[in-house]
Amino acid sequence: MGCCSNNGGNSGPFAEGKELVDFVSQAHGGSLRNQSIPSGSLEAVCQGCGANFTLATFVGTCSACGGVHAVSPPRSGDVGNIQFAGKGYQLSDG
Ligand SMILES: [Zn+2]
Repeated sequence: MGCCSNNGGNSGPFAEGKELVDFVSQAHGGSLRNQSIPSGSLEAVCQGCGANFTLATFVGTCSACGGVHAVSPPRSGDVGNIQFAGKGYQLSDG
């Protein structure tokens, strides 16, 4: 599977919520999520608890509550595109 291909389902770089977080966290064999956002860190607001935090990589967690957020590369220029996986979501290492 190539970068950012769309499977025709709800997953892909333009998915939302948990689907997007899952997609980004697993993209490139899991190596994408720890890469820095090329356009610079995003000043995010946690969609779980409302705290401010900095999203420096494509997948990041709120420092206050640990809520998992992600943004896909084609949408990483806009803080409004950050997706929240939902309360209780845990990133898998697989
Ligand atoms: Zn939070």
